[in-house]
Amino acid sequence: MTIGWHFDNTYSKLSDNFKEVIKPTPVKDPELIILNEKLAKELNLDFSNISKKELAKIFSGNVLPEGSSTIAQAYAGHQFGHFTMLGDGRAVLLGEHLVNKNKRFDIQFKGSGKTSFSRSGDGRAVLGPMLREYIVSEAIHALNIPTTRSLAVISTGEKVVRENLLPGAILTRVASSHIRVGTFQYIAAKQNIDDLNTLVNYTIDRHYPEIQTSDNKALDLLNLVMEKQCQLVVNWMRVGFIHGVMNTDNMAISGETIDYGPCAFMDHYDPKTVFSSIDRFGRYSFSNQPPITKWNLARFAECLIPVIDKDEDEAIKIASETINNFQNIYEEKWLNMMRDKLGFFGEDQRDKKIIEDLLNWMEQNKADYTNTFCYLMNKDSISNEIYKDQKFLTWIKNWKNRVLINNGSIEKSLKLMKNTNPTVIPRNHKVEEALLAANENNLDNFNKLLSVLENPYDNLENIDEFQFPSSNNNYQTYCGT
Ligand code: AMP
Ligand code: MG
Repeated sequence: MTIGWHFDNTYSKLSDNFKEVIKPTPVKDPELIILNEKLAKELNLDFSNISKKELAKIFSGNVLPEGSSTIAQAYAGHQFGHFTMLGDGRAVLLGEHLVNKNKRFDIQFKGSGKTSFSRSGDGRAVLGPMLREYIVSEAIHALNIPTTRSLAVISTGEKVVRENLLPGAILTRVASSHIRVGTFQYIAAKQNIDDLNTLVNYTIDRHYPEIQTSDNKALDLLNLVMEKQCQLVVNWMRVGFIHGVMNTDNMAISGETIDYGPCAFMDHYDPKTVFSSIDRFGRYSFSNQPPITKWNLARFAECLIPVIDKDEDEAIKIASETINNFQNIYEEKWLNMMRDKLGFFGEDQRDKKIIEDLLNWMEQNKADYTNTFCYLMNKDSISNEIYKDQKFLTWIKNWKNRVLINNGSIEKSLKLMKNTNPTVIPRNHKVEEALLAANENNLDNFNKLLSVLENPYDNLENIDEFQFPSSNNNYQTYCGT
């Protein structure tokens, strides 16, 4: 009975300045809620011969896999603009699991008990939010957007104290690493240049080996991370995803989406959309995601100043110039992404105007972001009176003219659009409905939603109920606790 774990724990071998060695706190009565068998297969893990009872022990941390070396990672972060020393307050890293000897994945338990970083928290997580992370992270993966993944959720058999007593749970999170901007902030704040060099080198070896021998590794790292983050946020903007809590501790150096707390997908197009109940000033609203990414990258750049150049003024100058490139890099990527959404080949000077006209029209008419692009792709199921609006019909004429430029044809454009525009996203009311039933031990809705979200670019039959927004315009999310 071998599962196939191959742990090689490089992060836990770093000095104690980076982590605390700690085991998960055992739980009372763990029960397996869901196991991601497809992901397990991708990880060369085989759980098929293991009983549900044993699986519950494994994914609760009551029994630790051979070769693991459990730690809580230290990090800091700007939370809504305020700097705080943080760290894994309710998570432990089991270690790095190797797939085919070369692909390395962090395996982490979220909700696994107190650590020295817990501050006043209980170290635990609640079932609803962990299932929410599971379904939304898997949806983001299916949308071809880099993200941490979810391997399993167990319930702990213990109650967790929140506004009332709620069922406890542990999520097994899989990530290419958990190194965050906040990890650099933590090390930089300690002002130990050796540790900073260690972290830079470790990160490059793990994520960006192509710059191992470059002249200014720290600067190259900054540029590569900026590139990755731009790409990530462009992807979020493509599908209408609002992360909701883009604190620097929730920004992974790998460029993966991480930390699914108050995130949600936008229904009707409104750049000011905010779902998180605590984001009162819209710091992390839909259209603020790119400037906040730049802000976070500037915090990352600050950490790297001592290793970019020995001359501090020179280092600041170089780092500032780099960060000031953000706008150009982002805009170009965004424009190309929107061209894909509209099926445009090549470039035309009118593109930006056509795109902005559509966005403005959508905003004024409260048109659904996802469904408007589906409508353009001839999705018959998406009929709506607003698409008969004269302004929209005029816009469509311009759009069709543009499509035919650069050897385009409607058919070729539709193919491009089909790979760019999802027909289904995790609609907020559908996610809530699934979680509500799951809380009552009924996973039917959850599994159905999960299976629909697995193929968001396919022309699935009978998915109308998953395509329409809820009539509730006041949807709110809460930090996943
Ligand atoms: P998050 O909002 O999940 O990004 O978490 C921010 C910080 O708060 C991290 O350091 C978490 O480990 C910590 N944290 C969140 N919830 C808890 C909890 N229930 N117990 C201990 N620490 C927590
Ligand atoms: Mg976090």
